[in-house]
Amino acid sequence: MTVNRRDVLLKGGATAAALATTAAAQPAAAQETQWHHTADVVVIGSGAAGLPAAIVAKEAGSSVIVVEAQPHVGGHARCSGGNLPLGGGNSIQKKYGIEDSPDLVFKDLTDWSVVQPNGFPDYRYNDHEIIRAFADNSAPTVEFLLAHGVVFVDKPPDRRGGSSVGNSVLRTLHCAPMDWPLIQTGAPASPANRTTMSTGNGLMQPLDAAARRIGVEYLLEHKMTKIHRENGTSGRVIGITADNKGTVVNIRARKAVIIATGGSTGNVNFRRMFDPRLTEEYCGLAGMPYSDQDASGEIAGMAVGAALWGLYNQTAETGSSLTKPGQIGTQYGYVNLRWMPGSPVFSKARATGLRVSDWQNVITVNMLGKRFYDETGRQFTANAYKGIDPYSHGSYLNAKNVRFDPNNWINAAMAGIGDGKNGGGAVWAIFDSAAVEREKWDPKPPNVDIEGGFFFSADTIPELAKKIAMKYQRVPMPPQNLARTVGDYNSYVDVGRDFDFGKPRPLYTIAKPPFYAAWAVPVLHDTRAGLRINGRCQVVDMNGETIPGLYCGGESAGGFGMHGLPRCTCQGYIAGKNAAAETARA
Ligand SMILES: Cc1cc2nc3c(=O)[nH]c(=O)nc-3n(C[C@H](O)[C@H](O)[C@H](O)COP(=O)(O)OP(=O)(O)OC[C@H]3O[C@@H](n4cnc5c(N)ncnc54)[C@H](O)[C@@H]3O)c2cc1C
Repeated sequence: MTVNRRDVLLKGGATAAALATTAAAQPAAAQETQWHHTADVVVIGSGAAGLPAAIVAKEAGSSVIVVEAQPHVGGHARCSGGNLPLGGGNSIQKKYGIEDSPDLVFKDLTDWSVVQPNGFPDYRYNDHEIIRAFADNSAPTVEFLLAHGVVFVDKPPDRRGGSSVGNSVLRTLHCAPMDWPLIQTGAPASPANRTTMSTGNGLMQPLDAAARRIGVEYLLEHKMTKIHRENGTSGRVIGITADNKGTVVNIRARKAVIIATGGSTGNVNFRRMFDPRLTEEYCGLAGMPYSDQDASGEIAGMAVGAALWGLYNQTAETGSSLTKPGQIGTQYGYVNLRWMPGSPVFSKARATGLRVSDWQNVITVNMLGKRFYDETGRQFTANAYKGIDPYSHGSYLNAKNVRFDPNNWINAAMAGIGDGKNGGGAVWAIFDSAAVEREKWDPKPPNVDIEGGFFFSADTIPELAKKIAMKYQRVPMPPQNLARTVGDYNSYVDVGRDFDFGKPRPLYTIAKPPFYAAWAVPVLHDTRAGLRINGRCQVVDMNGETIPGLYCGGESAGGFGMHGLPRCTCQGYIAGKNAAAETARA
């Protein structure tokens, strides 16, 4: 039930009297807070975890308010690729004869013997209670999505787009966009792609429609800033405070509050608790600028006593937590997300970026104008179907079937320049106009962000180095360094051998003006550690006790090192069910 703010704050009469009566029955701290809205369940965030939670809770008979910081619904989930590796023996797996079960999902996601090509143990640090709940609820979550309008591409599940999802069977489903407009372009997909491509629009748009249809209330542009417990840091959680464009709005939760705020990688101070290298130059998070992952859920949860959980997973060198940029010359270079001029958030994104199809066409240099790695080097990988082959559950011999691969363009890019500072600083892709022709790039706005300082050009290499000046280039690039780097590289091309980093047969000299420098820092993606939860998605405190009335799911929850949508949708489903089953307070 929503009470108009003006009724509460300005008017006397019946509304105020009714509120006064209700207030008399409430505990002390609740009385001090003037509530502007009330619902049984308050969900913070309208993404992959938030919307399933809201719908499930509403259909179980609870009134639900979803509080969303952005003016639009869907979070990172709407920007996503919609690749959804949720197995467990769902109806689509059955349709295509794939044998899976909750037990197999559980065994897969707790198999200590699975290691990655870089030697990291993928599943060793998952919390078994959380994985058991995920395993048991994976197939029901798929059926829930189907029942609420999500259309999956009609083909057998595959292994595309999922990581840390288990070695044993094919589990990835793909959400079809149908006629919904794509957030990336502002227009629907082409008719040929509407039932065949995979996109998060196809996941979140139907869920948004379903939520509205059944009467879930939204408060958009309401950013949660505080969670209230009855007695400060003890007692039940009774509501939240949100900021609505400078106005304080208090929202009471009669049953529960669900944190579904999407993680912490956008908060520099928070993310540096896990990895001090992650300084401010990593400013182009995947999913931004559609929504941020600013740790507000974690911080508000911790302020009322919540613990963090599974912190190892945040720094494990596995999966897409840190990615190599796919687009260069733009702040937002995530490989699987390209903002096009028709997108409603394009004015914030400012440029599409230049998609790199072949890293032979550029060299990457640090702030000093020096190369640091083979540009064709890759990023971390994570376990997917037959990632280890042959594979035998729990066998120590699995490790020998993984091929060693140092994989670390990312780590080299973030190594720094030896000036005693944290963070690798700016990384620039350097190329010439011959590369522009080969890649068929048009190095002008709106494809590159010149105004923001993410793209430079010049007629000579030393001039180019002199021009590179922006917030994150913390030292001037010595022109002679860049000239020497390019000269050396061109000589390696001439003899067909990269003497510095072993780039496989360097192919093209950088010799034809004009020359270009395009922003190419690693992109931060997943949050894989967050608030401590139990199998019911209840938030747990530092003493191991649940915080009554507080739930969390998705990237803001810890204990489960899986990429993306499966754990988020499934935990939203679990949290919504359990929150709705709480007893409503008067
Ligand atoms: C480009 C891209 C491609 C991806 N592709 C895939 C894929 O193919 N498969 C896959 O499995 N995963 C994919 N992912 C990852 C997946 O989208 C995320 O893991 C998932 O959306 C996280 O769900 P969530 O509910 O935790 O957060 P989100 O979906 O981001 O939702 C969080 C919501 O909370 C809101 N919020 C945050 N703080 C507050 C606050 N204080 N008050 C109110 N609201 C707040 C945010 O604005 C946002 O709307 C992709 C991600 C991106 C960015």
